[in-house]
Amino acid sequence: MDKISIIVPCYNEEEMIPIFYKEFSKTAKKLKKVEFEVIYVNDGSSDNSLREMKKLSKEERCVKYISFSRNFGKEAAMLAGLEHASGDYIAIMDVDLQDPPEMIEVMYNELKSNEELDCIALKTNSHDDYGFVRKFFTNLFYKIISKMSKTEMVPGARDFRLMKRQMVNAIISMGEYNRYSKGLFSFVGFNTKWLTYKIPERKAGKTTWNFFKLCAYAIDGILAFTTTPLTISAFIGVIFCLLSVIAIIVIIVKTLMFGDPVDGWPSLVCIMFFLSGVQLFCTGIIGAYLSKTYTEVKKRPIYIIREQDLKQ
Ligand code: UDP
Ligand code: MG
Repeated sequence: MDKISIIVPCYNEEEMIPIFYKEFSKTAKKLKKVEFEVIYVNDGSSDNSLREMKKLSKEERCVKYISFSRNFGKEAAMLAGLEHASGDYIAIMDVDLQDPPEMIEVMYNELKSNEELDCIALKTNSHDDYGFVRKFFTNLFYKIISKMSKTEMVPGARDFRLMKRQMVNAIISMGEYNRYSKGLFSFVGFNTKWLTYKIPERKAGKTTWNFFKLCAYAIDGILAFTTTPLTISAFIGVIFCLLSVIAIIVIIVKTLMFGDPVDGWPSLVCIMFFLSGVQLFCTGIIGAYLSKTYTEVKKRPIYIIREQDLKQ
């Protein structure tokens, strides 16, 4: 009998935890030949999420939970789930039902019917709920990162996916602190089939992501999966060196031919401001990579568990 582990990261989702389980069990009932475990990961919620998890875990044999000592972020919650899952197949799902549980059946059947596949992942091609600004920046991000990084980033990819054990082991083996799962999933390779669906609305509670958090997340993705910005900043440096050599020659020739009247103050100030801007920007890029390297070498734990019940 196959076993599917469902990992559900939760941050302040007291309302959604029981609703999710109710929806999920409809699908679980349909898949009679499969054993399920649902691992809720409480990512340091400040509401009653943990109490809801404990309650559900008492009532339902297949419900387990892990609870962090504070909020470590969804990436950490996903990793904790993957590391503690015992299934042959492992899925990651949001608790807000934006990842419809009925898709699990479709994904499982798809994986079963094709031995070659290791993972079924979901993406969306319609961002109707996004405003113009978010749509614009989302597209821009995917354009930039696909040009810069060798790792393929699929536009509209969700974290919702069903993976075989072997692929999950590969993901766990990457112990980096700055985790950008969308890149890690793609980095490990294996055969992934993409299904497209339309993301339904959040059923209850509210999203914790805002525009600035999303920007920071996008920058994390770029820093984690490409060092091209460093090359670009070095390239800009070379271009400006060449330009200054040309400018020096022009000025010397001009002075020899026409004398040296004192002018050009305003343009000089503009050039100085511009160049120091470019320099600071490039130093900033280096700083960004340095700070990531700093957090990596400290080797701090990615998450800390306060309590758990995995019923083993
Ligand atoms: N989440 C988490 N830790 C966080 C933020 C979010 O575990 O710090 C969980 C959240 O409870 C949900 C999932 O990650 O199950 C996706 O979050 P959300 O719905 O806010 O994101 P969106 O769907 O808007 O991308
Ligand atoms: Mg959501």
